[in-house]
Amino acid sequence: MSDTPKIEAVTPEVKELSNFQDLVSLCKRRGFIFPSSEIYGGIGSCWDYGPLGVELKLNIKESWWRAMTNRDDIEGLDASILMHPRTWEASGHVEGFVDPLVDCKTCKGRFRADKLEHANCGKKSSMRPGQYSECQLTEPRNFNLMFKTFMGPVEDSASVVYLRPETAQGIFVNFENVQQSSRQKIPFGIAQIGKAFRNEITPGNFIFRTREFEQMEMQYFVKPGTDMDSFEQWKQTRIDWHLSNGLRRSKLRFHQHGPTELDHYARAAFDVEYEFPIGWQEIEGIHNRSDFDLRRHQEFSGKKIEYFEEATKEKFVPFVIETSVGCDRALLATLCDAYRVEGERTVLKLHPKLAPYKVAVFPLMKKPELLEMTDKIYGGLKKHFRATYDESGTIGKRYRRQDEIGTPFCVTIDYDGLADNTVTIRERDGMTQERISADKLVGYINDKMSTWKSE
Ligand code: ATP
Repeated sequence: MSDTPKIEAVTPEVKELSNFQDLVSLCKRRGFIFPSSEIYGGIGSCWDYGPLGVELKLNIKESWWRAMTNRDDIEGLDASILMHPRTWEASGHVEGFVDPLVDCKTCKGRFRADKLEHANCGKKSSMRPGQYSECQLTEPRNFNLMFKTFMGPVEDSASVVYLRPETAQGIFVNFENVQQSSRQKIPFGIAQIGKAFRNEITPGNFIFRTREFEQMEMQYFVKPGTDMDSFEQWKQTRIDWHLSNGLRRSKLRFHQHGPTELDHYARAAFDVEYEFPIGWQEIEGIHNRSDFDLRRHQEFSGKKIEYFEEATKEKFVPFVIETSVGCDRALLATLCDAYRVEGERTVLKLHPKLAPYKVAVFPLMKKPELLEMTDKIYGGLKKHFRATYDESGTIGKRYRRQDEIGTPFCVTIDYDGLADNTVTIRERDGMTQERISADKLVGYINDKMSTWKSE
């Protein structure tokens, strides 16, 4: 038995993800993400999370939910997707949730007038829409992004309801319910994870922009005057969260909204941006929304929404600091950040806490005595971690399969181990192998997971 960790042959050249297509095919092949309704030819910009994707997504949501609600000053909520239609008048979405749309009269392409610099002409893909002499764009017209449907059996204008375009409004309309039932004092926040729907004009880039997606939003209610301090704290807290999920610092930055991007009621807004293969793009918005939302709901519902501060005997409408991150977009950033091609192997260097499986267990060969010990170890590990089992192909092939789905540890049971109750544990990132006592596996994996750092 040797204590020296073994290292598999590595080709020094390391490639990062350079286009979404490589990720799309890995995700399909390994069961992370499939095109929706694929047997019917798919449906624009809708995707289904497969067996591994759903685990990764749950782990991201879990990481966010714990970070938000493992504190005394934040409560959780799960509001319904369909809300009273007045909600969307109050929020400004009926009137103002529009994107300027232009059509190309020649190629019939449809583009967002404010994002032309990211689009390609349908006739000459090296040019932007409208730049090619034969292609003429229409004047921009406003297009409302909310999906409409009807509530009840009659399809008339009185029964129109909307699929929520953001989860935030469910929080605003429940401000008093939550505050009073939880007896929270300001400052405090409400956190929610849920689906949102936007009839985007130009969805695409895999799951970057879809028409149905999940948001993780938190509204933090503060006393007017303390809002900018709180805003600064939340900026830091949120970038720290992305780092804690393993995203590399060099791939994250803030973008401050300038006067033309800022909503009229907003006092400040920053995006957290990630450097995707398509360039720097927003993954999260952090906004100081002033008292706009609560005041509008007050006005449209006719109900007072105020907070009474015992200590000062003051009544006020709280200001709101909002943090809003797309779960799917955070997941896309996580996959992009983790993806590496190192010579022959493709590996997802996911943070172990996010990896769909923490550990894979292999018998060296399909021999009864090895299978018996493997079963025992696999059963024991499953009580502590999401684990998987593989007995087919060479050990090298089995390592590669696990690398590609980001499993941080592989445990092999061999004949030496039968004699002295040891196993070989191989670690994904450095490909080092160690022989350890089977009884120490759980502690070993836990230790390594808690000290893991991104490369
Ligand atoms: P954009 O300007 O890109 O349309 P936005 O500024 O309207 O986005 P917000 O309303 O601030 O986005 O939404 C908060 C977060 O929700 C975004 O940072 C993003 O992660 C996510 N998100 C918004 N729209 C989509 C979408 N169509 N598909 C996937 N995620 C989205």
